[in-house]
Amino acid sequence: MLITAEKMHKINVGCDSMADTKTPEERSKNMSHIRSTNTKPEELVRKYLFTHGFRYRKNDKRYPGKPDIVLPKYHTVIFVNGCFWHMHGCSRARLPRSNQEYWEPKIKRNAQRDQDNIRKLEDTGWKVIVVWECELKKRVAEERLQRLCEEIKN
Ligand SMILES: [Zn+2]
Repeated sequence: MLITAEKMHKINVGCDSMADTKTPEERSKNMSHIRSTNTKPEELVRKYLFTHGFRYRKNDKRYPGKPDIVLPKYHTVIFVNGCFWHMHGCSRARLPRSNQEYWEPKIKRNAQRDQDNIRKLEDTGWKVIVVWECELKKRVAEERLQRLCEEIKN
């Protein structure tokens, strides 16, 4: 599995270069743009799983939260979550200093929704695995993805 330095660099630059001078609307637009163009962590995970023999469905709307990856054979779903949007406790999840009153409730709602979806899935017998964007940084991605394969199978 090849994770190009360039791809990762783009992700990092995309996250770190946001100035705090932007309005929430501008930032929101930027974020979604970054998400839909540069950042494709879920693609990285899918490719890795595919080359390791796993077969999956993508963004299956039938399940709560529309999981990025559904592995019917293993009764497992995987969410590949951006740290900021899904309130991971890591450094990438830090709220911007300005407009906190805008961001905080928004991000907290996301996190609450995530929890609800995970609970619903687990209640109906699915194994739920969350892979965080920061776990897919170049230096650590391979190790995380190897571990993911084990988590799926066990
Ligand atoms: Zn993180």
